[in-house]
Amino acid sequence: ECSARELTEATLRRLAAVEPVLHAFTTVTAERALADADRVDADRAAGRTLGPLAGIPVAVKDNLCSKGIATTCSSRMLEHFVPPYEATATERLWQQGAVLVGKTNMDEFAMGSSTETSAFGATSNPWQPSCVPGGSSGGSAAAVAAGACAAALGSDTGGSIRQPASFCGVVGLKPTYGRVSRWGLVAFASSLDQVGPLSSSVADAAEILQVVAGHDPRDATSLQVPVPDYRASLRSPVKGCRVGMIRECFGAGVSPDVVQSIQAAAAQLDALGCHVEEVSCPRFKDGIATYYIIAPSEASANLARYDGVKYGLRAEGARNCGDMTARTRAQGFGPEVQRRILIGTYALSAGYVDAYYHKAQQVRTLIRQDFDRAFARFDLLLTPTSPCTAFAAGERVDDPLAMYLADLMTIPINLAGLPAISLPCGLDERGLPVGLQLIGNVLEEARLLQVAHAYEQAASPLAHCSRPPLVRPLLHSTAN
Ligand code: GLN
Repeated sequence: ECSARELTEATLRRLAAVEPVLHAFTTVTAERALADADRVDADRAAGRTLGPLAGIPVAVKDNLCSKGIATTCSSRMLEHFVPPYEATATERLWQQGAVLVGKTNMDEFAMGSSTETSAFGATSNPWQPSCVPGGSSGGSAAAVAAGACAAALGSDTGGSIRQPASFCGVVGLKPTYGRVSRWGLVAFASSLDQVGPLSSSVADAAEILQVVAGHDPRDATSLQVPVPDYRASLRSPVKGCRVGMIRECFGAGVSPDVVQSIQAAAAQLDALGCHVEEVSCPRFKDGIATYYIIAPSEASANLARYDGVKYGLRAEGARNCGDMTARTRAQGFGPEVQRRILIGTYALSAGYVDAYYHKAQQVRTLIRQDFDRAFARFDLLLTPTSPCTAFAAGERVDDPLAMYLADLMTIPINLAGLPAISLPCGLDERGLPVGLQLIGNVLEEARLLQVAHAYEQAASPLAHCSRPPLVRPLLHSTAN
């Protein structure tokens, strides 16, 4: 119906219209986008076979290395870092014809839940610009919600795809650990990090996952198993699917609006022929405490590479080598990143490693066993994605504990290495989106997508079709 160039130009127009309010991007790659689009149009004119993403404008979180384009992790440390190589996940997008419109803003080094720790300024939520978009992939989520790209890649270590997807009313999928290559993803916590799509429908998430999933010899943790046909799985019937609602996710501290929307979603799944029942995962609540030992420990090791020598920032005026490293790290890292490095270094230090790090690894196993027991009875598990909807900018940024609690429901899934999807399931009383989380057993992305798609098709239009207020006035003046 339209050329890749027309679609790209319309998307760039929308991006330019919303970006002054949102600040969802660290870099906009308009020239590259138009060149990508022209190549697709030329291929089509020449009758060459086109990839499934040919001409589709996408955005990429700024912690995935893009060859020749700044990859900052929203940190002063990497402000001028231009990678000499491309991440595997993004390389696969370009091979299938996708068009890069820009790199998206994030919490610094993906540490945060609000995109407020970015060294280059916060991103706003398109549903209510005084609220945060969630994080750390807040730029990707806001860009998709506002139509500044058709879909985006994010990364999820403890909820960073699903929680912003939930806050911005879009779909976000964290695949099984090892499903998508981490080659070229700037490491935060290597045993938890995973790349995945943010999109405006479940079908789009399936399209992107189809392209980025699969073994990569450059990532030793990438799984050597075939990639199923995710698109085909969308058409499979959901009748008889056993869904367990995790009881521990509906207690005190969960907003009543959220509980109400999730219960309505569960009833909807029931009406579709799924069997929805309660299940208990008693260790679920230990996820945050466990994660805030393991993730900072891994981060403290991974971030040791930013020493002012190999690449990234180097502070001026140092008296000697040690002084240079200390100054570089003090200037290059923001307060949240420094806090994580300090926590992790402490948890791994000689006198404490058994009491903290090793103990946390044992609890991690217990959490995994809880899920194993639940999956013996159920095909999928269901929770809210977040205990609340988007909170006001500035509200939690000085209270790390309140910020960490935003990931209560998403973190245990990373600790267990499982796939999970967040999809819109309604609006709260302020008109802000609520996210439903479906959790699958290892490598069960197809089933997740199948049930999520069935729900999305059956739910009221409000649940998945409404557009954030920010873009409503633009729908007729720019791209629609
Ligand atoms: N918000 C969590 C954290 O700050 C998770 C972040 C993520 O998934 N990258 O660590």
